[in-house]
Amino acid sequence: MAKRARAAEPDNVIELAGASLPAIRAHLAPREIADGDWDRFEGYVGEIFEALGMDLDTPGTRDTPERFLRALFDATAGFDGDDKLLTAFPAEHDASPESATSQIIEGPISFVCLCEHHALPFYGTAHIGYIAGDQIIGISKLTRLVRLFARRFTVQERLGEQIADTLVDLIAPRGVAVHLEASHLCTQMRGVEEHSRTVTTFWRGAFAEPDLRREFLDEVRSHNRA
Ligand SMILES: [Zn+2]
Repeated sequence: MAKRARAAEPDNVIELAGASLPAIRAHLAPREIADGDWDRFEGYVGEIFEALGMDLDTPGTRDTPERFLRALFDATAGFDGDDKLLTAFPAEHDASPESATSQIIEGPISFVCLCEHHALPFYGTAHIGYIAGDQIIGISKLTRLVRLFARRFTVQERLGEQIADTLVDLIAPRGVAVHLEASHLCTQMRGVEEHSRTVTTFWRGAFAEPDLRREFLDEVRSHNRA
């Protein structure tokens, strides 16, 4: 993938300037909701909560519509983007044959999303594995990457695709593996009241190789046991 890496900073951090980061660049400007709109939205939410049975005329509930909207806004902060993701580090290994199979695995990274079908939370843990090409990314950036796409209205399938594809865009690794395990409140609070957990896996590049997948999944399993 073509990428322009600007001059290395003194501390050896590379700023990525590729045009291939639409998911991150698209939302660098924080969302803004006008005060008048907030007031209107609070009115709507209050109406709905009252119709559902909430007494809005108590000290505990008077500000609930406002708090609810602010909580929703915070829970979807991923739509504001995260410009701190736009840096990487040059890899410290050479391109020897052994390094072509060395995995960097991070997790469990906890996340909470709002499912776009019910606007109710689903939450769980992510593991990300990758095999570096010329660059590695700061470990904390992997957590940022999960949060960027988790704190939105989304579905588990898209979350994994976006994490995997954006990591490919950011540092062009040889391979990426993403494992997500989540509980969905929309199936627990209503409907079938099912308390199962949903696992999804996503593979890119070198992880077409079954041995690499097995090693990654063994590692995820041992993390989850710990
Ligand atoms: Zn749902």
